[in-house]
Amino acid sequence: MSVIHEPPVKKILYWCDRCNVPLIGRTCACGAEGREIELLQPYDVRPALGSDVTLIRRLVRERFGNVPIQSVLLLNKTGGVDRADLVIAHGYRFGWLTFDPVARKFSLDIAPEALPYILKYVTKGVVDLETGIDAPGGAGRMGGKKFRLKESRPDGTVIVKFRNRFGTGVVKEGQIRVKELMPVDLRTGKNPGWEQVVQQNRYHLKNLERNAIRMIKQHIHDRPTCNVSFSGGKDSMAVLTLARKAGVTDAFFLDTGIEFPETIAFVKAQGVPVIEKAGDFWQAAEKAGPPGKDNRWCCKLLKLRPLKLHLAEIGPCVTVQGNRWYESWNRAALEETSQNPANPLQLNVSPIRNWRALEVFLYLWWQKAPINPLYEKGIERIGCYVCPSMLESEYEELRAMHPEYARRWDAVLAKYAKKRGLPDAYAQWGLWRWKALPPKMRELCRDRGIPVRDDYTLQAEPPAAREETVEIAGERTMEPEMAAQDTGGYNVEAIRRDFPILGDIMYLDNAATSFSPEPVIAAMVEFEHRYRANVGRGVHRLTSIASQRYWHAHEKVAEFIGGKNGITVFTKNTTESVNMVAQGMGWKPGDRVATTILEHHSNLLPWRRLARQGVATDIVGIGPEYSLDLAALERAITGSTRLVAVTQASNVLGVVTPIREIAKICHDHGVLLLLDGAQAVPHLPVDVEKIGCDFYCFSGHKMLGPTGTGVLWMKEPCIEPFMLGGGMVEAVTAEGYTPAPGYQQYEAGTPNIAGGIGLGAAVDYIQGIGMERIHTYETSLTDRLIAGLSGNPKIHVYAPQKPEHRIGVVSFTVDGFHPHEVAQQLDETADIMVRSGHHCCQPLVESLGLPDGTVRASLALYNTRQEIDLLVATLEELTR
Ligand code: PMP
Repeated sequence: MSVIHEPPVKKILYWCDRCNVPLIGRTCACGAEGREIELLQPYDVRPALGSDVTLIRRLVRERFGNVPIQSVLLLNKTGGVDRADLVIAHGYRFGWLTFDPVARKFSLDIAPEALPYILKYVTKGVVDLETGIDAPGGAGRMGGKKFRLKESRPDGTVIVKFRNRFGTGVVKEGQIRVKELMPVDLRTGKNPGWEQVVQQNRYHLKNLERNAIRMIKQHIHDRPTCNVSFSGGKDSMAVLTLARKAGVTDAFFLDTGIEFPETIAFVKAQGVPVIEKAGDFWQAAEKAGPPGKDNRWCCKLLKLRPLKLHLAEIGPCVTVQGNRWYESWNRAALEETSQNPANPLQLNVSPIRNWRALEVFLYLWWQKAPINPLYEKGIERIGCYVCPSMLESEYEELRAMHPEYARRWDAVLAKYAKKRGLPDAYAQWGLWRWKALPPKMRELCRDRGIPVRDDYTLQAEPPAAREETVEIAGERTMEPEMAAQDTGGYNVEAIRRDFPILGDIMYLDNAATSFSPEPVIAAMVEFEHRYRANVGRGVHRLTSIASQRYWHAHEKVAEFIGGKNGITVFTKNTTESVNMVAQGMGWKPGDRVATTILEHHSNLLPWRRLARQGVATDIVGIGPEYSLDLAALERAITGSTRLVAVTQASNVLGVVTPIREIAKICHDHGVLLLLDGAQAVPHLPVDVEKIGCDFYCFSGHKMLGPTGTGVLWMKEPCIEPFMLGGGMVEAVTAEGYTPAPGYQQYEAGTPNIAGGIGLGAAVDYIQGIGMERIHTYETSLTDRLIAGLSGNPKIHVYAPQKPEHRIGVVSFTVDGFHPHEVAQQLDETADIMVRSGHHCCQPLVESLGLPDGTVRASLALYNTRQEIDLLVATLEELTR
């Protein structure tokens, strides 16, 4: 078991009661010991800055009159629906500052600890329980109770008085809920400024600085160059100051294209070069929809990709960065140095990882370093002005500061919401910031009657209100998003949760191999953990369980392809299945095999090799729309033809072949039919008996099963076993052997038992969702993909026009780029994995006049519309 070490995060703050200042260490420069104050998670305490203090003063004044408020106030961010800060004054809780994203306003709930400092100035907002409520005053305990008010008052926080005791209360709809009441001793405290806080903390600041500089100096030569990653925010300003003192001269700022102009000006004023390599956020948002905290395509396009490009230019380097433990969970384990996982060129050093925001500001003030002016204006998180991580309170600040930016984003949201029939709350309350809403937001929606789906996405309004159609590939079809949504509640997010490998990557290389869901992995692990034994041999308990499950997996697979009456043999892959037939048929010179130009090398080379035995291969071509030339196939079949070997779906063009017609031709001519179903089984419902083929070959690893699994289905056991040995015989005599009945005779030796059982689990998984539904869903994705790619004049798509003639395997080329270059760029810049080259179909790609091959995006049941859109958007970026 792995042990998670909690970093030494500071959960308390000290306060010097003598100087009335916060301390970042235990002692004050005056010599006094600090009093401990407990902080709240995530403990990232920070100073209240200009607009925070103004806001707090205004809110107090509105409710309680002209009450003087300290200059030194601290804010301790906590979890809430939106902004939620505990305000600390005099080293005590002063109140809670929150923003309501629905009412779009701030409020401050006063804490009882604030009363000793404010009571004597309060001129309004006090409810006297002796006179102000409808209840019989005087008797019993008042704290924790609710009373009806005699006079109406605005909702919100109030001070409550009962004789000589005071407390706080909340008024809501004419009622007051009283919190604890107690006698209050009036107090005053000094009112120092931040300069004095800095002074009283100077020894601690010196220590922090010394340690940070030492750390930078220790690593400065770990790579040939060293630089500072500068974001324009306070943390990177602290790091820039420290790094410059440590002798680092280089720095860079990645301009995302949606930066506040104040930030750009600030960055330039610090002499930091601005790198402009980001993609176009607005265009990408049009295609991919708004990003989300759980769907951060924006970071890839605007930060990670530009960083990669920049690093490619500057080479290996040490980068000093301002990341801190207190910022987020995933930074809480940050080490002193960390290799950038996405980029081995970069070693990150985090010298202020153990600082809180308070330390950062104090350090900058101590150093008289410039600070981005946005902080004083109420922006707490410097970065893109549109960001799914922003609070709605910050969005309001943006509205006030740069209304034109907010208007532009509002328009994107409104358009997106309208197209999908999403409720107004999507844009108005900032619900766009999540794809799947977190519990707090779901609660908010539930309270306000906004419907949320089972997968926690916002529910669209009834489709009747928004039916629209668009032209795709010359046909009038339903708008693609709607087609996807209309697949009977296909819950792709729930499916994706079963594939932890999906993480942040976009995997569009499913035709090569697909991923396995958790139940498949669990089935294999269970075999290893609980009953690993050989199969078909012995009688002990474990071998019985293993044999039974392995046999049962064959049954499941057989049923899945409608082949219960035939023989279902487990192989390594399609290639082995085809070779078993090629080697097992007992050929004689003069025999012929007919196959097609569409074939994968696996369904071509095994036949070509038979030439040594005098067996010739005839290749049938394709006609318009890449369709198989049936007339040519019929012509190719002669009296010597013994087998037709055809793919059911091409792994390059995605075209499906007319298997029923092919089967009829074969029957008419008394020829056996082998189908290569490697690309068909993962995407289409298959019924081998209805098709009427003799052999059906496919790969388990392309249909969510484990690697090293494949299937050969045979109508009759009419071929010689490829291999002989243990496990495949009923009896061995001096003369020869009697083969075991059923699949066993074709599986000599110990098979891939865990893999076979895993393949059975993959079948269960697919059937749990339903092949028809998967097919419908993938069809809508394929339509969207082809429509998106076809919209780019520099992209050439090689796919049949009609949706019923194709599967989600789409080849294309991009003008001016080698297919490998495109695939590499997609990976590097957008984490999109596609295949490039000839896809083991050299004769086909050459016949298409594409000797370099194509780029191929191939889908699976877990791909999403957003992924398709991002692929299209990234390609647009590439071709621009
Ligand atoms: N036939 C087709 C149509 C394929 O797409 C593939 C895999 N790309 C194969 C055969 C070979 O499959 P495997 O590598 O699993 O043997």
